[in-house]
Amino acid sequence: MCYIVGMNNLQNEIINTRKIYRELFKNAQTAVDKQLMPLKTPALCNHCTENCSLDFNKITLFDKFPKNCRYRFWQEAALNKLENEISKDVLVQIQAIDKRRECYSCSCCGSCCRLASSEYSFEQLKERAANGDKFSQDFVSIFVPYESKEQARALFPDYIELLEKTFTGEELYFYYCPKQGSDGLCTDYENRPDICRIFPSDPLVVFPEKCSYNVWKQEVEITALTLHAIIDIVGFYKEKIHKALED
Ligand code: SF4
Ligand code: SF4
Repeated sequence: MCYIVGMNNLQNEIINTRKIYRELFKNAQTAVDKQLMPLKTPALCNHCTENCSLDFNKITLFDKFPKNCRYRFWQEAALNKLENEISKDVLVQIQAIDKRRECYSCSCCGSCCRLASSEYSFEQLKERAANGDKFSQDFVSIFVPYESKEQARALFPDYIELLEKTFTGEELYFYYCPKQGSDGLCTDYENRPDICRIFPSDPLVVFPEKCSYNVWKQEVEITALTLHAIIDIVGFYKEKIHKALED
């Protein structure tokens, strides 16, 4: 949907968010490692072979161990923790963030109806919609493209310039909803699709400056970024462990 803020604010926001994310990512990785490391214990080894060259202090979760090596139990226990404890905890926290959003309500500024951006052209969105993509179905049911990028640029120059700088080399398309009335309100409110009803659902995107959900965003953004980092870490760890456990 639409994310309109002053260019300097947005640029600073992106730079700061990247910096903060790097720091949060490091901390999240340390926290995940801290939960997994106690699962590694020398007692796992039953000295199945006298010629074993594995060094307890050097082995890592992502190593490929011999088929009957009991350090594979460590890897299996780590997978179990990642899937059944850490991921579930993330889910609970995401639900708490969603719940917190209910404390705020839309002030009907209309910004998110006036400009939506997408990396897909209208033709591509229609194709995705025809292939069953629900978001695209909702999107093409209400939004239409601006006549030209220049028309959108005339209305939102700073935002569009920044998007072009941020996504250098990537094509972006801009849309508006004709169902928005001259008073800025929706003329078909009862029948608006899900994408309108749930917006804004992700506190990690940039909201329009006037959006009343900015308070919610500020409140939950750091937690959401941390959860995003944990999801990335869990995904990466799971993939590497599964690979190590492959025969
Ligand atoms: S359908 Fe209504 S709420 Fe949805 S984008 Fe259009 S004007 Fe806004
Ligand atoms: S307050 Fe936010 S959700 Fe409501 S119309 Fe404005 S931008 Fe859209």
